[in-house]
Amino acid sequence: MIPASFDYLRAGSVAEAITMLSDHGEDAKLLAGGHSLLPLMKFRLATPAVLVDIGQLRELNYVRGEGGQIAIGALTRHHDIANSPEVRAGAPVLAHVAGQVGDPQVRHRGTIGGSIAHGDSASDLPAVVLALGGSLIAEGPSGRREIAAHDFHLSFFEVSLEPDEVLVEVRVPRAPGDRWGFEKLTKRAQDWAIVGAVAARTEEGVGVALINMGPVPLRATAVESAVASGAGAAEAAQLAAENTEPAADFNGSVEYRQHVARVLVRRALEQASV
Ligand code: FAD
Repeated sequence: MIPASFDYLRAGSVAEAITMLSDHGEDAKLLAGGHSLLPLMKFRLATPAVLVDIGQLRELNYVRGEGGQIAIGALTRHHDIANSPEVRAGAPVLAHVAGQVGDPQVRHRGTIGGSIAHGDSASDLPAVVLALGGSLIAEGPSGRREIAAHDFHLSFFEVSLEPDEVLVEVRVPRAPGDRWGFEKLTKRAQDWAIVGAVAARTEEGVGVALINMGPVPLRATAVESAVASGAGAAEAAQLAAENTEPAADFNGSVEYRQHVARVLVRRALEQASV
C-alpha cells in the first residue's frame, strides 16, 4: 500500500504543466484530485517517476455558458458540478450524475477532467458526456484541439491524449428539461457501477450510453437508432447489449451484465419519456 518513490512538481499554470510534461515525457503523470491515480500508485499498478500536480490551478475550475454549450474547466470538482446553477439548468443529467459519484469526500476532491482522462469505463461522467454528444479540449505545446467524446476513449485506460497534453475543458450541448434518465446498479451507494445507463434527449435526438459494458464507455447506437425510428423504451432497450463486451468478475457474468444493461436502459429511456 506504499507507492513507489516519485518526484513531485506543482504547476502554477497550464503552460507550466505542459512544459513539465514535455520535459519528463512518459515518466510523468498529472495529479488532479488524486482519487483514481493515488490508489493505483498505492497498489503499484501505476509507477510514475514524476507527478505534476495541477490540482490547485484555479484557471481550470469554472462552469461557463457559451451559446448552445456549457463549458466546464477540467479541474471542476464533482460537487461543484452537481451544485452549479448553470449545469443544473442547462444539463441537469450531468448535475444529477455528478451528485451520485462515490461519496462526499470523493465528490469534493475528484475532478471531471480526472474522471474522463483516467479512462475507466466504470466511471459515470464520461458516459454522460458521451450520451450528450459532448467534446473535450486538450492543450499541448502546439495549442488546443477539440476531440469528440466518442473519439476520446481508445481502449482500457487508454485515451487520445498525448503524453504532453492536458485535458483543459469539457463541453456539453445544452439539454435542459427533464427528458433524461440515469440508472446505476451498485452493491453499496458509493461504489462504481456494476452496470450503468444514461439516456439524454438533445437537439440531435436521444443519446444513450453504457457504463462498464466494455473497455471504454459505449454509446448504445442500436438503441438510439431504434428510438429514432419510433420504437418505445421496452422495444429499443432489447438492443442495449449489442456490441458490448463486459468483463465477467465477482460482481456478475457477461450474460448477467448484458441482461442488467437491457433493464437499466429501458428504465433510463422511460425516465427520459421515450
Ligand atoms: P486523478 O486521480 O488525479 O487522475 C486520474 C488520471 O487522470 C491520472 O492518470 C491523471 O494523470 C489523469 N488526469 C487527471 N486530470 C487530468 C487532466 N486535466 N488532463 C489530463 N490527464 C489528467 N468515479 C465514478 O465515476 N463513480 C463512482 O461511483 C466513483 N466512486 C469512487 C469511490 C471511491 C472510494 C474513490 C476513491 C473514487 C471513486 N470514483 C468514482 C473516482 C472519482 O470520480 C475520481 O475522482 C475520478 O475518477 C478521477 O478524478 P481525479 O481528479 O481524482 O483524478
